[in-house]
Amino acid sequence: MTLSNTAFRDIDRKARAREAPVSYFKRAVEDCVSDFDEVILGFDEEMAMAEASRCIQCPEPQPCLLNCPAGNDLPSALWHISRGEFIEAALVFAETSPLPEVCGRVCPNLCQEGCVLGTRNGSVSIGKLEEFVADEARLAGALAIKAPEEKSGKRIAVVGSGPAGITVAEDMVKKGHEVTIYEAWPTPGGVLIYGIPSFKLDKRVVMNKIHDLEDVGVQFVTGTRIGESITIDDLLAENDAVFLGTGAGVEATMNIPGEDLEHVYTSTDFLIRGNVCPEMLPVEYRWKPFVGRRVAVIGGGDTAVDCARTSIRLGAEEVTIVYRRTEAEMPGNKSERAICLEEGVNITYLQAPIEYIGDEQGQLKAMKVIKMELGEPDSSGRRRPVPIEGSEFIQDVDTVVLAVGYWPDPFLGKKTPELATHKWGLILADEEVGATSREGVFAAGDNVHGPDLVITAIATAHKAADSIQAYLEGQTLPLPEVPSR
Ligand code: SF4
Repeated sequence: MTLSNTAFRDIDRKARAREAPVSYFKRAVEDCVSDFDEVILGFDEEMAMAEASRCIQCPEPQPCLLNCPAGNDLPSALWHISRGEFIEAALVFAETSPLPEVCGRVCPNLCQEGCVLGTRNGSVSIGKLEEFVADEARLAGALAIKAPEEKSGKRIAVVGSGPAGITVAEDMVKKGHEVTIYEAWPTPGGVLIYGIPSFKLDKRVVMNKIHDLEDVGVQFVTGTRIGESITIDDLLAENDAVFLGTGAGVEATMNIPGEDLEHVYTSTDFLIRGNVCPEMLPVEYRWKPFVGRRVAVIGGGDTAVDCARTSIRLGAEEVTIVYRRTEAEMPGNKSERAICLEEGVNITYLQAPIEYIGDEQGQLKAMKVIKMELGEPDSSGRRRPVPIEGSEFIQDVDTVVLAVGYWPDPFLGKKTPELATHKWGLILADEEVGATSREGVFAAGDNVHGPDLVITAIATAHKAADSIQAYLEGQTLPLPEVPSR
């Protein structure tokens, strides 16, 4: 019997549903805006048990579980936590996610959005409970990866060491295969190190996972961009399969005048220089971005919020997120947005820059902004922003950060014969199995479906790992349909 059979959980559901959510510890705003340490401190044991006890153990299919891309057995984990069985709970999370400490911190909690208590007193704080038990399990040494002593003799090359790469590496090493991970940056971790600021995800949490993988023999080759001195063909010659988990790290821009002025940054450039310590950076990145008194961040998603909060920590006095739609259409994590407002960031809606204006030295001094109104829905289903003619105005600004979207680096597709890509460099792969147009090459995560959540990359990477195993066992896999040119 699995714990997901909730019929055996004898609880007073009505009493539980009446209980108010338990608050977790958070640092004071005035403290956290002056450093890059994590803002959320989370639950202690007693609070965690009380909060998990609010779960009414819904009958299957539980809405929280249905909403989790990785299919985490959340009711079972919450049941364990309510009984003080923290390690057991962490192991439930770890069954479906190799990164429970990370997901607890950065996942936007789709599971919580599905929780039936959301329309009553408030959904169960599943993400923060996951973080708490994963940290407890880490301290107890219970998250170590168990790899078989006997090796299979198969070798797997993983390109990219973010969530998708880590997931495939762990799944493969557990099968007894030898795994080597290639990473373009000097330190492994991909977007977890170079994209997510430390005030949301302490870099030590990521490095703990890297060390777990090293402990079971995974090799890391850093500072190596596959496609340059080492190609996919080189990797295929030395390995039985190759997995591409290269993410989506190329910035979209708006192509408006003045984007090349000094002090106009793309979000990746800004976040990396602003958040990552010099020893984890290539030499050319080892200087902080210029942050003037007034910073405008263009965009409305999680990355815009991260850039705005980073600007505050780097000393800006006035930080404004400029978003072209309204709050109702804004993507990203609502609780992170609430924290950013608490930290002093302003958000202006229905506005967009149309030009950046520089001084005689070529440095940004202002931007021309146009007001918007909402029109008909676009392909994303959100109402399209439509410029209001004659509404332009000039806004003084010292630094601009563009956070308007990401795409995968098209480099790998261009450098690899017969690796089919499609719009904006996305790798063409069968969605269910992760097989690409090259035999023995698999892909999953943001480089296949575009920028998405950590947990989505993990879920799709698990499927790709299953497919790699099937391929190694000689099974025939469906290949993606390559459009004729
Ligand atoms: Fe518990 Fe909420 Fe999931 Fe129901 S939906 S099982 S109350 S976490």
